[in-house]
Amino acid sequence: MKLPSQLFVDGAYRNSASGRQTALVNPATEESFAEVVAADVADVKAAVESAHRAWDSGWRDLTPGKRTEMLFNVARQLREQTEEIARLETLHIGKPISDSRDEAALGARVFEYYAGAIGKFCGQTIPVARGGFDFTLRQPMGVVAAIVPWNFPFPIACWKAAPALAAGNCVVLKPASLSPLTALKLGELAHAAGLPPGVLQVLPGPGGAIGDALVTDPMVRKVSFTGSTEIGRRIMELAARDLKRISLELGGKSPNIVFADADWQRAAETSPMSVFANTGQDCCARSRVFVERSVFEPFVEKFVAATKKLVVGDPTKPETQLGPLVSSGQRTGVEEFLADARKRGSKFACGGGRLHSKGYYLEPTVLLEVGKEDRCWREEIFGPVVCITPFDDEAQMLREVNASPYGLSGSLWTNDIRRALRVSRAVQSGVLSVNSHSSVHVEAPFGGFKTSGLGRDLGMAAMEGYTELKNVYVAE
Ligand code: NAP
Repeated sequence: MKLPSQLFVDGAYRNSASGRQTALVNPATEESFAEVVAADVADVKAAVESAHRAWDSGWRDLTPGKRTEMLFNVARQLREQTEEIARLETLHIGKPISDSRDEAALGARVFEYYAGAIGKFCGQTIPVARGGFDFTLRQPMGVVAAIVPWNFPFPIACWKAAPALAAGNCVVLKPASLSPLTALKLGELAHAAGLPPGVLQVLPGPGGAIGDALVTDPMVRKVSFTGSTEIGRRIMELAARDLKRISLELGGKSPNIVFADADWQRAAETSPMSVFANTGQDCCARSRVFVERSVFEPFVEKFVAATKKLVVGDPTKPETQLGPLVSSGQRTGVEEFLADARKRGSKFACGGGRLHSKGYYLEPTVLLEVGKEDRCWREEIFGPVVCITPFDDEAQMLREVNASPYGLSGSLWTNDIRRALRVSRAVQSGVLSVNSHSSVHVEAPFGGFKTSGLGRDLGMAAMEGYTELKNVYVAE
């Protein structure tokens, strides 16, 4: 398998201006296996200029039919290369190969969806008081900077690039430093599928060094960011200077609410993977479980039993459900949360330690009796740790759920339709799932309330977010 190792700019792999490189470490073995060129500020400027040239010299005016054909070609390339994309993903972030395969296919599906959306996304005609004709246009913005994290590198890159391109923009994609390989592959395959040079540029490089240059470049008209709330806030501050368009998909501390009238046995058996999947490095992780008191004890018993059965290990094996944490630093951060839980007297129903002699593994950990002021209860841990608590009263439980500054996702388990509707409306989150743990549907909007974000990815909402709305009035 040949590994991409350079920036993908203007339709080709290239070196950076400085020649600096970033070493990649396999989190399952702790071994360095490759070096990838790191962009610096001069490369950002060149890539943005090239993207703007590509936009101005043809991409913005391409017919919808031609753009549709090109994005379907990209999707076809991605489908043909699913296995290679999956292997790259597993290699650099330790994601279990079965998940990497699903996510590679999801990326292709996202391109198919937006290829099909191009000819169906349109403005309106509006009856106005003065007669004449009034109509709206959805116009592309120009160059979009897409900055993505390492936890779902390939699908998130696709769900930013595909709608931005479909809406007629060019894209400069900045992957996380830990996970550049599949983003670079996306740039290469999109070009092979017929995307003209400059339409999709891929710039690996340290966010701390090149992020500001990318966000503040005057030719970048929109910044679409997924990552931590801290960096999202910084991007919003920088973007405010020019009132630059932004969308932010940020952190979460999502609830999983289980009522006694639900099929709570099924909830208990399936809930561990709603928080531990991707080793808990998931913005939608249901990391706070609220269980109605009458079923609390048997629920916890089943939850812990299901957790102990999870297969944690070599991510290249098809039976593995949880791989390592993405890096040594990420594991240390999670261990600091566990140390705090110990200090504060939380009960460890299972887990709490390291696993295997090599690789950044941690046991999936179930915490009980966690104080509402404790870090593990309030903050996003981004590791395999869950807190479970009983509740007696629906209204009081909802106050606690909504006390979080986050509001991204969540689950609700009940067989009472009126309660399902009432609680769905009351939970302050952008995404909620009843009697299931799904958060992401390609066709539906995805994003957060409160400090979990601004704007929406996926669905037709994403197309809206990559266009300006213009109103035109024509006198009779
Ligand atoms: P992060 O540190 O915020 O990094 C995200 C991206 O931003 C990376 O590409 C990073 O580059 C870049 N970056 C860093 N500093 C920057 C700066 N000053 N300006 C511009 N870009 C900069 O987040 P992460 O640790 O990769 O990801 C974990 C976080 O993402 C969690 O909080 C998680 O909840 C959130 N997340 C949210 C969603 C969602 O849809 N809501 C989905 C997935 C993840 P470098 O890697 O080079 O530093």
